[in-house]
Amino acid sequence: MKKEKGLLIVLSGPAGVGKGTVCSALRSKNTDIQYSVSATTRKPRAGEVDGVNYFFKSHDEFQTMIANDKLLEWAEYVGNFYGTPVDYVRETLDRGQDIILEIEVQGAMKVREAFPEGVFIFLMPPSLAELRKRIVGRGTETAEVIDARMTVAKEEIDLMKMYDYVVENDAVELAVNRIRSIVTAEHCKRVRLIEKYKELVEVE
Ligand code: 5GP
Repeated sequence: MKKEKGLLIVLSGPAGVGKGTVCSALRSKNTDIQYSVSATTRKPRAGEVDGVNYFFKSHDEFQTMIANDKLLEWAEYVGNFYGTPVDYVRETLDRGQDIILEIEVQGAMKVREAFPEGVFIFLMPPSLAELRKRIVGRGTETAEVIDARMTVAKEEIDLMKMYDYVVENDAVELAVNRIRSIVTAEHCKRVRLIEKYKELVEVE
């Protein structure tokens, strides 16, 4: 039987909603989900490792990646550039493995154009007050950056209407279980399985 192609899963949500935490918790439970490491011109935060959290690039290096078609999508976000290296995504899907991209909304919509069969999940904060608390609590950003991120966050929340699924991050464990259920259900969709079972089923 032909192997299914992997699922391309996009996880977006306003900064501070806990995408990183939810993503790591998901990956520790589903070790077969690969993670797409983005390139960025943002400076590393304390504890961030090059090649693990991001590929940290200079502006020039980032522009070269764009010029050489190395990015599936890219976007400017609060003064920095972020982009998804395309080769790793394609190789992973072709191997039949699932991959998760943790990216912001503009980039996600570009990915949708290239991969309409992707699964687009929006992570929602329980409230705006809670979101601000989480951004402030992270303690890595200046007051100015926090305000800029809150403004962008409000605009981003409005774009949840572009997504297939909305998952509230009221508690990490609950959010992870919701995402795991979505992934399981998506794998069972008939349209994804037609190819796999084509020797067993008569398809018009
Ligand atoms: P942060 O600076 O907090 O790590 O990320 C800022 C925003 O950029 C987050 O919403 C994050 O999901 C998004 N982001 C990270 N990598 C990418 C990427 O490759 N492409 C796009 N479009 N957004 C990204």
